[in-house]
Amino acid sequence: TPEPLYIITPTYRRPEQIPELTRMSHTLMLVKNVHWLVIEDAAVATKQVTRLLERTGLNFEHLTAPMPEKYKQKKGAKPRGVSNRNRGLQWIRANATDGVFYFADDDNTYDIALFDEIRKTKRVSMFPVGLCTKFGLSSPIIKNEKFVGFYDGWIAGRKFPVDMAGFAVSVKFLLQRPNASMPFKAGYEEDGFLKSLAPFEPKEIEFLADNCTRVLAWHTQTKKNEPSAPLDMKLYGETNLV
Ligand code: UDP
Ligand code: MN
Repeated sequence: TPEPLYIITPTYRRPEQIPELTRMSHTLMLVKNVHWLVIEDAAVATKQVTRLLERTGLNFEHLTAPMPEKYKQKKGAKPRGVSNRNRGLQWIRANATDGVFYFADDDNTYDIALFDEIRKTKRVSMFPVGLCTKFGLSSPIIKNEKFVGFYDGWIAGRKFPVDMAGFAVSVKFLLQRPNASMPFKAGYEEDGFLKSLAPFEPKEIEFLADNCTRVLAWHTQTKKNEPSAPLDMKLYGETNLV
């Protein structure tokens, strides 16, 4: 069997939650040896999410990690999914010994070929993400087989101006870095996490997806839907759960 892939997926309760997780689960059902870490930004796990996970037949963990109150109260951009991802890292440190992990938001779109690519990761790998920022693409730039920089619509002084869906990390590499974690800093989550993997420099990145010429992940965003009342009956309805 191939090395395990740990997919860390933050999620939270909203009308789109079950449809997003349904779509994503159907992608992962086509991938070998995946362990799906689904982590809810909530105090209590949503029962309908657990039922969905059970129905998929996937190996999964259903965990909770609420965003700390002080960030929830903040006006403007919030560090979305950060407590969830750090909980995922904590689970990996406690339970995993080898393989590769990947931060996969619940609303993105993933080509199943991506998962065979990220399995090759020895330390830290990177690859393009489509529909990302105002440029429509976030990617390392490779010229004549050489890494020359990053293409991204929002560089913002970041050392690693990449999207959350644009990199994967080997478990062994993480375990050698006991202090690596994601900061609660909106816009700088990826950069902060990758910097926390120090010592690690851009020149050490492993480039996947045919030297970053193929887009295998997209930062799709689902339009917000009107919350319908009662949420439980209409969107988490029992008809979904049988
Ligand atoms: N998320 C979360 N709590 C929130 C908002 C978002 O756990 O309050 C999760 C969400 O399900 C997704 C990730 O964090 O997996 C990133 O959020 P979102 O997709 O809204 O961010 P964007 O696409 O705008 O970067
Ligand atoms: Mn998103």
